[in-house]
Amino acid sequence: MSASGTRAAAADIPSLDALLRAPALAAALATHGRGEVTSLLRARLAALREQALAGALARDALDKEVIARELSNVLAQRDTPRLRAVFNLTGTVLHTNLGRSPLPEVAVEAVLQAMRAPVNLEFDLATGKRGDRDDVVAALLCELTGAEAATIVNNNAAAVLLLLNTLAQKRDCLVSRGELVEIGGSFRIPDVMRSAGARLVEVGTTNRTHANDYADAIGQRSALLMKVHTSNYAISGFTHAVALDELVAIGRERELPVAVDLGSGSLADLARFGLRGEPTVSDAIAAGADLVTFSGDKLLGGPQAGIVVGRADLIAKLKKNPLRRALRVDKLTLAALEAVLRLYRTPEFLADRLASLRLLTRPAAAIAAQAARLSPAVQAAVGARFTVSAVTLASQVGSGALPVDTLPSHGLALRAAMQRGAGLARLEADLRGLPRPVLGRSADKTLWLDLRCLEEADEAAFVAQLDALRTPVR
Ligand SMILES: *Cc1c(COP(=O)(O)O)cnc(C)c1O
Repeated sequence: MSASGTRAAAADIPSLDALLRAPALAAALATHGRGEVTSLLRARLAALREQALAGALARDALDKEVIARELSNVLAQRDTPRLRAVFNLTGTVLHTNLGRSPLPEVAVEAVLQAMRAPVNLEFDLATGKRGDRDDVVAALLCELTGAEAATIVNNNAAAVLLLLNTLAQKRDCLVSRGELVEIGGSFRIPDVMRSAGARLVEVGTTNRTHANDYADAIGQRSALLMKVHTSNYAISGFTHAVALDELVAIGRERELPVAVDLGSGSLADLARFGLRGEPTVSDAIAAGADLVTFSGDKLLGGPQAGIVVGRADLIAKLKKNPLRRALRVDKLTLAALEAVLRLYRTPEFLADRLASLRLLTRPAAAIAAQAARLSPAVQAAVGARFTVSAVTLASQVGSGALPVDTLPSHGLALRAAMQRGAGLARLEADLRGLPRPVLGRSADKTLWLDLRCLEEADEAAFVAQLDALRTPVR
C-alpha cells in the first residue's frame, strides 16, 4: 500500500523532553510556562500514541513544528476571554442578557482610575476621618431628585429587598394586585416579600384598585404602602389605579410610609428626547413618596446598581440594617455611577454624552442610511446562499422600560436563498463565532440585524471582520 510509507509507529513519537527543548515550542513556554505546556503536550502525545496503535498515525503529525502549531492553537483558544464585547443587533437596546447599558466614556475613565489607585471610598478628605461610601453619590442624587438622602446597593432587586426587610419585617406591606410584577430572571414581588420576611397584603383587583381598597386593608400589622411600577407590561381597558399622591395622602393620614419601586427610574424627563411616559424619580419624590427605588443600569444609563432615595430618617434605618453590608457596591460601581450622574446636570447635552440615550435617540434616517450602506458589504460576505435586504424595523428600549412603545429603526434582513432552515442557523452560528460576535434576532426564517446599536464609530470594525465569513472554519 502506498499509504504505509506515510504511517508512523509509536516508537517514532518524540519524547516530552525533546519537545520541550524544541525551538518551535520556546514561544509557548515563554508565555504560558512549563506546567501548562507540559500537561497539554502529555495529552497530545497520548492521543498520538493511540493513533499509532490504531495504525492511523500520519508521519507528518510528528513534525515538531506541527505539534507546536497545534499547541498554540489550543492555548489561544483557552486564552479567549469568556466575557467578550459583542455587537448587539438584537433591536433591544438595554438588553439584560448583554449587560444592559453601555457606559459613557467619562464613566469608563472614572472606573479605570478607581481600579489603578487607592481612592477615598470611605474616607472624608475634608475632615481626615472615616467616611461613608454612599457619600460619593448621595449629594448628587439628592440634587437631581429633590430627595433628602440616598443609599446605593448592588441592584434594584437588592434595594427592594433591603427596603422591605428594614421597614416591614414580620409585618404587612400593602400592594395593589395590579402591580404584583414579575421581572425577568425570577424577580417577583411576592417572592421578594417572602425573602425579606414581610407579609404581602394584596389590595384591589388585577385591573382596578381604588383608594378605599388600601384604606380598608390597613390594620394593626400594617407597616408600609408600596407602589410598584408595572415596568414590563401595561394593563389597559377597564382599569383604575390609585395615583401616587392619593396613596401618599392615605399614608400620611394613617401614619404609614409609602415606598415606590420605579424599576427603570429615569432622572430626566425623557419626553424631551421623544421617549414618552416613564415617570421620573423627582416626580415620585415631589408627589410625596417616602422612599423610591430604581436601577442604575436601565434608563439611567449607568452601572448595575440599586438606588434608594427619600426621607433621611428612613434611609438611615436602611443603612443600619446588617443586610446592607451584604448588598453594598464596590468602588468601581460608585466611580461609574458618579460620572454618569454628573451628566444629568446638563440635560441639554445628555442625548450626546450618555451612551445609552444616544442609542435610544438615534435618528431613524441615520440608521436607514447605515442599512443602505452596509447591505452590499454584508451581502458580499455571506455570499449567494443568502439574500440581504435593508428593511424597516422597530427597536425596543428593553429592561422592561416603556414596554408598549417601540422606536422606529432600520436594519438588514438575511434569508436563505433556498428553502432550508439549517442554512440560517449556521449563518447565525458563524456570526456568533466572529472575533466580536454579532447577535441578531431570528424569527420567520429570517435573521434580523437591527442597526440602532451599531454606532458609526464601530461600523468599520463591523465590516472588516465580516471577511472571516467567506472562509468559515469548521
Ligand atoms: C427591573 C426591575 C427590578 C429589578 O431591578 P434590577 O436592577 O434588575 O435588580 C425591580 N422592580 C422593577 C419594577 C423593575 O422594573
